[in-house]
This record gives sequence, structure tokens and C-alpha cells, in this order.
Amino acid sequence: MRKKIVAGNWKMNKNYNDGLSLFSEVLNMVKDEVRGEQIVVVCAPYIHLNSLSALAKDAKQVFVGAQNAHQEAAGAYTGEISSEMLSSVGVRYVILGHSERRQYFGENNALLAKKTDAVLQNNLKPIFCIGETLEERESGKYFEVIKSQIEEGVFHLSADDFSKLVLAYEPVWAIGTGVTASSEQAQEIHAFIRTEIAKKYGSDVAENTTILYGGSCNPKNAAELFAQKDIDGGLIGGASLKSRDFVDIVK
Ligand code: PGA
Repeated sequence: MRKKIVAGNWKMNKNYNDGLSLFSEVLNMVKDEVRGEQIVVVCAPYIHLNSLSALAKDAKQVFVGAQNAHQEAAGAYTGEISSEMLSSVGVRYVILGHSERRQYFGENNALLAKKTDAVLQNNLKPIFCIGETLEERESGKYFEVIKSQIEEGVFHLSADDFSKLVLAYEPVWAIGTGVTASSEQAQEIHAFIRTEIAKKYGSDVAENTTILYGGSCNPKNAAELFAQKDIDGGLIGGASLKSRDFVDIVK
């Protein structure tokens, strides 16, 4: 059975104290809600990670994630953070390839392939994001775009490494816009992604891969999206900044 995950992506929000309060609230509210194969991940800014990991220490189903990691192990890369450093403070997941990183920081598939390797080498799990822009959707090129993001970003992995990955389909036109992909649109892409995985790694690996949906997911639309056959949870931006909304999505 593949894992069902709701992951929050705080992006560049919450100072230290506000982040601690938010996480403590979420932890209290979700601890009786998640069980079995269900997992909650909170991907916070670097300054929070050590403290959040300490708070989550005994919470079996709640994990802390980062939003990026450098591809090198260590060295003269001023301002950067390595996967090994993240691991040393108890981080378990790392978002890679978010569209904001691709757009504002020039991250491309080749770089993301290296980052994926570094994250896996440190026993962390990448939450690898893919998704098309509005222009790519309207021109009908979106299947090709998504296929090349997966092929160039993560299909170099062995089946064993690939099975540690979480994928997140986030159409760029739905991120932070209030426009959600319809459950049919999202399911269509998730099924396509799973088929591509099956072609490359076989149907067992494909069936066991968690594929999240992200983009204006909220307490009102989450249930319908997550009910789709190939949607295994969500990557939540704006709605992860309010404990009540985030926990309602988890529920
Ligand atoms: P959003 O962001 O939920 O605010 O649309 C999702 C994301 O960027 O991961």
C-alpha cells in the first residue's frame, strides 16, 4: 500500500516564534488523525527545522521537511545548506524542483537530478515537483513537459532509489492563484505519470509511488481531489499557514 501524505510548504513565511506556534498547534491537532500509511510532513524554512524536529520526535506519523538542498556535500558555497546538514537536524523530506525554484532560481532538470542524488545519498526522501505553466497547458504541450521533467530529473535513478521518492504534480497556473485543477484534470496527469513510471520501472514500483497534487488545495476541494484513484495526498502552500485549514485538509 502506498503512503498517503499531506505535506505543508510554508515557503518563506513565519518567523521563528510564529513557526513554532503553528507547528505545535498542527502537531496537537493531527496526532489522533493520522494512522497506518498516512503521513503528515511540514516543510519549513531552514531556521525552524532543528526545533520542529525536536517537537516532532515522538510523533510517529509527523515529519519535518526542508524546501531545498544544495547538490554538493560541503564546501565554499556561501549561503547554502547541504543534505547532510539537514539530516543532522532530523529532517526526513526535502522538496525539490518546486516551480518557484525553477522560475526564480533557474533550477533546471539537470541540476535537480544532482540534487535528487544528494538528498537520497543522505537517506532523505525527495518530494520532487513537476508541472506545466499556463502557456504549456494552453498549447497542449503539457504531457511532453511533464514527461521530460520526470525523465531528466529522476529517471536516472535505480528502481530501489526511485521507490524512496515522492512526486508532486503542481500545475504552475494553480499555485497560489486560487484556481485549482479540476479533479479530472489532476487525475488525468497523475494517471499519466503513473503509467510513465510503470513503463520505466514496472507496475509494482508505479503502484507503490506516492503522487501528490499541489496548487490551491484547500479544505473545500481536498476531499474530492484526494478521492481520485491516482492522487495520494497533497502539497499545500497557502492553506498550510493556518493550523485549522491544514488540519482540515489532513482530515
Ligand atoms: P498553494 O501552493 O497551495 O498556495 O497554491 C502550493 C505549492 O506551491 O506547493
